[in-house]
Amino acid sequence: MDSEEYDIEYFKECGFRRNKCERCGSYFWTRDKDRETCGDAPCELYSFIGKPIFKERSVEEIRESFLSFFEHCSHEHKRMKRYPVIARWRDDIYLNIASIANYQPFVTSGKVPPPANPLVISQPCIRLEDLESIGKTGRHLTTFEMMGHHAFNKRGGEEIYWKNETVKYCDDFLRQLGVDMDRVTYKEAPWVGGGNAGPCLEVTTNGLELATLVFMDLELSPQGEISIKGERYNKMDTYIVDTGYGLERFVWASKGTPTVYDAIFPDVIKELVNAAGIEHPLETHPGIIIQNASLSGALSPGEIAKKLGISLDELKNILEPIETVYAVADHTKCLAFMLADGIVPSNAKEGYLARLVLRRVFRMLKSLGIEMPLEEIVLMQIKTLRNSFPELEKSVDRIVELVSLEHSRYDETLLKGERIVRQLVKGYKEKADQKIPLEMLINLYDTHGLPPEFVKEVVSNYEAGMAVKVDIPENFYSLVASMHSGERKREMEPFAERIEERMKSIPATRKLYYEKPSALDFEATVLDFVDGCVILDKTLFFPEGGGQPADTGSLTLKGENRTLKVLDVHEVEGVILHKIEDGVVSKGAVVSGHIDAARRTAHTRHHSATHIVVCAARKVLGDHIWQAGAQKGEKRARIDVTHFKRISDAERCEIEMLANKIVMENKEIRASFEDRNEAEQKYGFRIYQGGVPPGEKIRIVRIGADEDVQACAGTHCSKTGEIGPIKILRTERIQDGIERIEYSAGEAAVEEIQAREELIRKSASVLRVPHGKLPAAVERFFEEWKQLRKENERLRGKIAELELERLKGRARELSGVKVIAEVLPDADTKEMMKIASQLSKEKFLTLLIGKREDSASVVSSVPAYLMDEINASVLVKRVCEVLGGSGGGKAEIAQGGGTKIEKVKEAKEAGVKLVDDLLS
Ligand SMILES: [Zn+2]
Ligand SMILES: [Zn+2]
Repeated sequence: MDSEEYDIEYFKECGFRRNKCERCGSYFWTRDKDRETCGDAPCELYSFIGKPIFKERSVEEIRESFLSFFEHCSHEHKRMKRYPVIARWRDDIYLNIASIANYQPFVTSGKVPPPANPLVISQPCIRLEDLESIGKTGRHLTTFEMMGHHAFNKRGGEEIYWKNETVKYCDDFLRQLGVDMDRVTYKEAPWVGGGNAGPCLEVTTNGLELATLVFMDLELSPQGEISIKGERYNKMDTYIVDTGYGLERFVWASKGTPTVYDAIFPDVIKELVNAAGIEHPLETHPGIIIQNASLSGALSPGEIAKKLGISLDELKNILEPIETVYAVADHTKCLAFMLADGIVPSNAKEGYLARLVLRRVFRMLKSLGIEMPLEEIVLMQIKTLRNSFPELEKSVDRIVELVSLEHSRYDETLLKGERIVRQLVKGYKEKADQKIPLEMLINLYDTHGLPPEFVKEVVSNYEAGMAVKVDIPENFYSLVASMHSGERKREMEPFAERIEERMKSIPATRKLYYEKPSALDFEATVLDFVDGCVILDKTLFFPEGGGQPADTGSLTLKGENRTLKVLDVHEVEGVILHKIEDGVVSKGAVVSGHIDAARRTAHTRHHSATHIVVCAARKVLGDHIWQAGAQKGEKRARIDVTHFKRISDAERCEIEMLANKIVMENKEIRASFEDRNEAEQKYGFRIYQGGVPPGEKIRIVRIGADEDVQACAGTHCSKTGEIGPIKILRTERIQDGIERIEYSAGEAAVEEIQAREELIRKSASVLRVPHGKLPAAVERFFEEWKQLRKENERLRGKIAELELERLKGRARELSGVKVIAEVLPDADTKEMMKIASQLSKEKFLTLLIGKREDSASVVSSVPAYLMDEINASVLVKRVCEVLGGSGGGKAEIAQGGGTKIEKVKEAKEAGVKLVDDLLS
């Protein structure tokens, strides 16, 4: 990147010098003429441990001084409310990773104006890519507040402010805090992220990086003129001040504690240390702790141990327990935000990331021997956070229930896991390479929820010194987290994809279904005909979208009297395509269109009902209810919602009742296009239940006094009363953390209710009881049936005993062997097998033929002492041959059959003859 990018007026005015770091080679700006290093770790050691950089301040004080500094500076910044940690307004990332993420992609690309300009915010963020470093480095956090002031400039427009002011504000803010300005360095470090890039200054003092000032003005472009880290970039139409001040780092610098954790949650750490029955090494080994903390930014643990004159093992023994405590403190704060903001742990999407963190903490608590339930620690964090984030407290009951449920699920997983791992190890013992591959460890974690440490433990217990090895890469959890936080991909209809190119020259279709929601007929002009699809200047046909299927109907060509069936309708980049059954349509033709009214009405009712069911479910189950998918049809619809346990029968009835009450109150359903920023601020991110639509204006659908507000492109009734009854048909757990609710609305609901009533009526009439007596009658009949079955079994046993005695009486002797060869009318094979095996035990050789109307079955048994001479399966085969069939089995007992029932007697004789021959 060009050094001119950093030619900043302010630096020159204030007597800064541009130096080259003699350690890392980076350029940096400083007031200190003699400074030789960039000031950042590892080029410089932490020099603030035990020697705070400025007056001690709390998290609240730093946050407030930052926000009010920018509110009252010469560019009065608007103070913004925090966004959730789950990025509901984006469909490319799950977690909020930076304050600028709040304004991506639409504001940063210039498609949507910013909600305020300039603005200032302190945004809680979550990053899971450094999971293994948490607790160990003293500075890594999964959850931190990024304080940012942002200015969004447009080329050719009025500039808010750019580099000069950004650096000046940073300088002024640090000075106001009391930082020694001679020690502050601004290091040049080009920034790259998410397809954008730009020059960046890292602001460092006493070895600690406190802020980054990014001047985002480039975007990826294959033919771009600017090259950074092997990619090519071009200037964007917008240029944006994107700053990130690490709130927790400022607090740390003001306290000079050994780690950032000791600075931001000392009380939680104290509780954990007590619960674990250990002592904080700051009490027992203060020298080592402080030295280690100062060196940790620059040196590896091995190097530090050497410097301290102790062995690496000794150092580890001192540090490891407290490092785990730090990690628990960090992770529980992360969970407080994740769970309070509505993430439901599961095996997919953001739910997976929450579960990953939960399960790491379960393991850590176990390793520390802490028996205090995890939910209590999370509540402790919420108590610490409640002054700044009172909204977290609303979710306390849910969090307690959810975390304890997750704990029992984890225990069950491990119990089952032991068997799975043992099975796996058996397979590896026989192979030459006896290391369990990484893919297998990832698979065990992903599919079965088994952490690699657990796998290692099971293997070592089970193997007792055997050679199967488990190597856990240090970045295991970051690796799986990154696999799951990766870019989400938008899918495109294959049908639409083919003709996308041609769409670009065609104007967007006017959507009459929004203008006249109840109209069924319209006239329009054909603009184009592509790949069997008619494109009109305007249309009433609703294209498939948001889980609502397309309208069907017909187009009649004026003057030609030709009618074409419309089979399917899609929208591509604002252009609506009508797929017709067959035929060709020419440009400029005028058509009259007619849509299938019954189908549209049914979709509209089911769609409107979907809003109401989600709204009712949220009221009954809690604010964590979020739509994870929906499909509307003519007869029924379904919606998938995030929920951490099964919906009970009572809850289902409550949801259904509430939904129908909303219908009966006949509330208005209003749809209008609103400004995106205003809508987000007025209604919150819950508007994105069904996904995130693009554009500055979004269509907002509101029910009643905003009981439900969603960004939605579907067709809706104008009053809830038009929906008619809503009948919930069933609920189902489709995957961990996601419940499906299936329901019918309108006529379809009445049909469902009638069908269910018919089932009851029929059942009652079979049992000859009135409806109300049905459950009692069914129970009584069922009890009686069980009794009778028992009695039946007892009697059959009795009969079999008698039969056995009768057969024994008919045994004949062949060469000293007792042989029973009998034809038994209507006997079944199972019963004959039972008899034959009993007789065999009593040393009878048995050949039984069960004769039925159109087939015969054969069973033979041979007592053990005759096994050398006679094989039951050979005998059965011979008999079945005569019967025109086949058979087989074991030497001691075999079975078969055939269809030539007229030869039953002959078959029996053939069998007896074979026995006779073999014995003599
Ligand atoms: Zn350096
Ligand atoms: Zn809708």
